Amino acid sequence: MKQDKIFVTQPSLPDLDEFINSLKEIWDSKWITNMGKFHKEFENQLTNYLGVKYVSLFANGTMALISALQVLRITGEVITTPYSFVATTHALWWNGIKPVFVDIENGYCNLNPEKIEAAITPNTTAIMPVHIYGNPCDVNRIQEIADVYGLKTIYDAAHAFRVERDGNSILNFGDLSVLSFHATKTFNTIEGGAIVCQDEKTKKRIDFLKNFGFADEVTVVAPGINAKMNELQAAYGLLQLKTFDEQIKKREEITKVYRDSLIGVNGIRLLKDIEYIKHNYSYFPIFIDDTIYPISRDNLYEKLKEKNIFGRRYFYPLISEFPAYRGLASSKPANLPVANKIANQVLCLPIYPDLSVKNVLLIIDIIKNV
Ligand SMILES: *Cc1c(COP(=O)(O)O)cnc(C)c1O
Repeated sequence: MKQDKIFVTQPSLPDLDEFINSLKEIWDSKWITNMGKFHKEFENQLTNYLGVKYVSLFANGTMALISALQVLRITGEVITTPYSFVATTHALWWNGIKPVFVDIENGYCNLNPEKIEAAITPNTTAIMPVHIYGNPCDVNRIQEIADVYGLKTIYDAAHAFRVERDGNSILNFGDLSVLSFHATKTFNTIEGGAIVCQDEKTKKRIDFLKNFGFADEVTVVAPGINAKMNELQAAYGLLQLKTFDEQIKKREEITKVYRDSLIGVNGIRLLKDIEYIKHNYSYFPIFIDDTIYPISRDNLYEKLKEKNIFGRRYFYPLISEFPAYRGLASSKPANLPVANKIANQVLCLPIYPDLSVKNVLLIIDIIKNV
């Protein structure tokens, strides 16, 4: 009998009856978007839950990224990582900003702070790193560099929902952090996103910009966009918060089973475990060295697919390899040796709260006995 399809992730959904109750309330009020009751309540609860100063909700993470660059009036060149989901760089392109790719480090696959300074030019205005797989970047070192050169820092924190470092939210570092609540992310509102900022004045500007620049009925203070989250998404998000801690616990258990079984397997490297991190266990990447492991990464990927197990090669190809970006000087593989190596080794294994331990063990068995 063939195994049911197992995908790299599967969204957790809120209780349907509870959601229907929220929908009834929305139907009665006829207030379906434009910062209504659920939007306000979700922003408040998220701010508390995440332990941050200010949250502004968005329709999706990409609009939040694009808007974040507008909020800080970023222009010219921005230093970023090629090892991410393509939206990170697209957000720069949509703002007419030139991306400058800097290589990643081997341990966590984050932007390598030691390579940033060499990429700074008189046109550089900001650094846009990504907390990839939810592992925090070296935020202190990046801030030091940003301070020396007068640069802004915008973190793409799409993977870093609820991640804490030494008891402090990772979203409290940098000028702005951007979250995604897409269906495939650890925390979903179907589609959705947010910008986290550190002061009230910035929060105001963000909220103007996501609503066409309207300050009131007759005042438009800036050329804004429409990037608002609607009431249905906000009501759904509020219910998600109720079960999120439980969801993370299940992810943690799965991570432990994977780690305990795959650690020490010849030719497979795992990410370093970080003890001072309160993690969200959003992804489980493994890195295949096919000079040691019996088959190549792509062969393992295909072999799992034959058994209805759909891992994903996040993040391959590198963003710097896509046609829009591969002509840039910073896209040359010689400039990005670590990112190129890792993109060819990575395979993200299925992980989501409802994945059974039985299926995790099945996946491990295939990997160990190719
Ligand atoms: C998912 C993702 C985004 C885009 O978020 P959407 O909500 O899908 O628009 C941006 N950056 C990274 C790193 C992501 O993984």
